[in-house]
Amino acid sequence: KGERLRLPPWLKTEIPMGKNYNKLKNTLRNLNLHTVCEEARCPNIGECWGGGEYATATATIMLMGDTCTRGCRFCSVKTARKPPPLDANEPYNTAKAIAEWGLDYVVLTSVDRDDLPDGGAEHFAKTVSHLKERNPKILVECLTPDFRGDLKAIEKVALSGLDVYAHNVETVPELQSVKKNYTRANTLIIILKKNKQKRLYTFDIKICNKCRNWFGSVDRALACELKALREADVDCLTLGQYMQPTKRHLKVEEYITPEKFKYREKVGNDLGFHYTASGPLVRSSYKAGEFFLKNLVA
Ligand code: SF4
Ligand code: SF4
Repeated sequence: KGERLRLPPWLKTEIPMGKNYNKLKNTLRNLNLHTVCEEARCPNIGECWGGGEYATATATIMLMGDTCTRGCRFCSVKTARKPPPLDANEPYNTAKAIAEWGLDYVVLTSVDRDDLPDGGAEHFAKTVSHLKERNPKILVECLTPDFRGDLKAIEKVALSGLDVYAHNVETVPELQSVKKNYTRANTLIIILKKNKQKRLYTFDIKICNKCRNWFGSVDRALACELKALREADVDCLTLGQYMQPTKRHLKVEEYITPEKFKYREKVGNDLGFHYTASGPLVRSSYKAGEFFLKNLVA
């Protein structure tokens, strides 16, 4: 007890670099964009930036600074009750930089900003509209905070002209340390459903921490959760392995084997999600651009 688990071999993989990778990396320097891909040292960077089968270069951009108003025990982002104020020019400048960077698909995400009256919803929406104005072809996904269940804030982003609305659920509801967060996730789904039109919704779950100890059967709890998401008309699902960012964060209770991830992918497929990505290195929005281009833009 108390010891950290050893990293299993399937998590010590070589990172493949696609052909676009170096080009994007070199042009990023002057644009003043902060990507989660680089800052979180995401293992999928070669694939995402390099473009896959459909040569879709994808990156995740951080809006609204690097300081979050919450302090989740599994996350290494800096926290403060009152982070610095928003940069009013950020939506315009970010959109301009992204358009120049040459991506096909962009994910806009942010820290939680509970200090702002609308949680930063307007900021998200403005960035999307500037971006679409400059480059109508680019596909835009917003991976947003829960906006504390604020109906108007969620609607503002949902109706901003985005193509994909994404949200991290993190775990099954029984394991949410603050139950209220789950209620918010539910509110979010209901509001999104109302504003669905042609948009795609994708939800991400990092499984396996403590699930076994608490349930005896993680798959049962997970299957219930996935069923609820599908019934709420969520289209795509990503299931990944939680990794402990530092010793001070929540410990990893189990490294799920690739075989188990495969099984869960099948559960997702059987439930009727359009797309389920399930694997140790899968992160939210994993290959979403490729999926979107292949299946929905035709
Ligand atoms: Fe960036 Fe997300 Fe791809 Fe990781 S999975 S490289 S964070 S776009
Ligand atoms: Fe990290 Fe998001 Fe939690 Fe903030 S709300 S601490 S960014 S997981």
